[in-house]
Amino acid sequence: MQLKPCPFCGENEQEVSELTDGVTKTIQNYEVRCGYCDARSGKCGKPKAAQLEWNKRVNEQDLADLHKEHENAIGLKNTYFQNWKDAKATIDSQAEVINNLTVRWGKVCRELADLKRLVREFIEIVDSTMHHKSEFVFYLKKRDEVKQAIKEE
Ligand SMILES: [Zn+2]
Repeated sequence: MQLKPCPFCGENEQEVSELTDGVTKTIQNYEVRCGYCDARSGKCGKPKAAQLEWNKRVNEQDLADLHKEHENAIGLKNTYFQNWKDAKATIDSQAEVINNLTVRWGKVCRELADLKRLVREFIEIVDSTMHHKSEFVFYLKKRDEVKQAIKEE
């Protein structure tokens, strides 16, 4: 197992030590010990357990890196949130523009319908005026014919 550098001094002087009984000299426990600053993993029954204990210790640099990563993530989250808020504001203002356009379009449609009705009424007036005019012309012609007939008698 690859042992991490010493979490206290950062050196790579660590190794597994056998802890023997002072009297019988039999191995009692194991621990990983830093040869530079004497930091220890704590006593474990098996060498591998001592190595795991050693590697579990959090390195100051790792902690600082983790903290920085966390702060970056918060910054990123805030940026995304701000972008999202900006996008929402844009969408809201566009929705308002579209709403206004819809209202104006409805007004234009009503005005066009009114205009169409006016044109139809105007055409009817012109038609009826033309009709009256031809009736009047017909009447004048008849009058002249009658006048002529009286004169000839
Ligand atoms: Zn050390």
